[in-house]
Parts: sequence; structure tokens; C-alpha cells
Amino acid sequence: MAEGISKVIKQRLENAGVRYHCNDNISKYLEEGDLEKLQQEVETAFQNVLNTLVIDTDNDHNTQETAKRVAKMYVHEIFGGRFKKHPRITAFPNMGYKSLYTSGPISVRSTCAHHFQNIVGNAWIGIIPEDGVIGLSKFNRIVHHIAERPQIQEEMTTHIAQELQKFAKTEHVAVVVKAEHHCMTQRGVKEHESDMTTAIMHGAFSKDASTKKEFYDICLSMKGHD
Ligand SMILES: [Zn+2]
Repeated sequence: MAEGISKVIKQRLENAGVRYHCNDNISKYLEEGDLEKLQQEVETAFQNVLNTLVIDTDNDHNTQETAKRVAKMYVHEIFGGRFKKHPRITAFPNMGYKSLYTSGPISVRSTCAHHFQNIVGNAWIGIIPEDGVIGLSKFNRIVHHIAERPQIQEEMTTHIAQELQKFAKTEHVAVVVKAEHHCMTQRGVKEHESDMTTAIMHGAFSKDASTKKEFYDICLSMKGHD
């Protein structure tokens, strides 16, 4: 039997000496046609999970196509940020606006790396531009691309801030993420009312208390705080 594509990809990553944790993007190490093969391999593996859960997928019409649907969802949707190339983001020259601007709420749909349960919430972003600016919708694209991976919220927030610094070409970046964790609400402590909020402040947002306050005041005036 031919070696599974996941092993082939793993070997490429190990040869290159790069990390491939749950929240790493590995698109650089994929070749044409790999994702289709990977989806097929995940489908077989997930079918095994269903078999092991003693579900008669041959006769149960509701689960006949489940392995296929889950594999497609993992590879192309909820973990797509691991496999898809980074969205194209071009910074334009800044013609003079050097004050704070904020964007949000930006929807966050991610997956908890510990339990593979949903993380559902919003992000708010603050930027004080320097020499470059990026289009407003690019913030959403950056957040969605990073969110579509298994991870923990703290690392996701840090990662969003790093990418924004890189693409918006400014050190002054603030990111707040407020989210519900289904591993808290659907299982374990079953705490339905609890959210987790994480915040990363860089540049003026960490050094200057009034800039930080201005950002939080604007965030509170924006939608999504119910
Ligand atoms: Zn969890």
C-alpha cells in the first residue's frame, strides 16, 4: 500500500526542520493535489472513529456520509488556516492619517486544541498606522485565516497581533478577543455564561495609558458586547 500523504508531508516538514503544531500553517510544504489526498485520508481515519464508536454507518442513513463531510470540513473549513495560503494583503502608502482607528467586531470561529470544541466570539482591533495602511476587510481576512486552526485563545490573540504588525507595517497594534469556549459550555463544568477575554497591546497601546484607554472606550461603544 502506498504511504499515506500525511506521512509524506510530515517528512517534508521534518526535512525542512520546521514546526508543525496545531496552529501552524503548512501550506508552503504542500504540493498540487495533496489536499484532495489528505481529505481522503482523514475520511478513512474518521470512518474508523465512527466504527469504533459502534455506529452502523452502513445502515444508519444519518451517518453514511459523515466521515466524508467531517474530512472536508476539517481540511477546507475549520482547519483550513493550516493548509490554505495566507490571503494576499498589500499595504498602501499612508497619506497622513497617524491616529488610532479600530475595527470590530470581527467574527472569530476557532477550535480549542485541547478538546476539539468550538471557540466562538469576536475580535476588536486597534491600529495606529505608520507609513502603510491596509484595507479594512483585510483585518477580517487575517483574523479568519488565523482562527481556522485548532489552538488556544491566548496564542491566537498573540498571533493575530503579530500578523497585523507585519502586514499593516506598524508596531502599534491592539487586539482584544472575547469568546465562548464550547469545551466549557457543552462539557466539563458546563458553564454557559462564561466568556474568555484576551488582550494584546503593542507599541503605544502598551506604553501609553491614555491610548490604551481610548481604544477600550471605542471598543465598548462598538457592537458585540452583549
Ligand atoms: Zn478546551
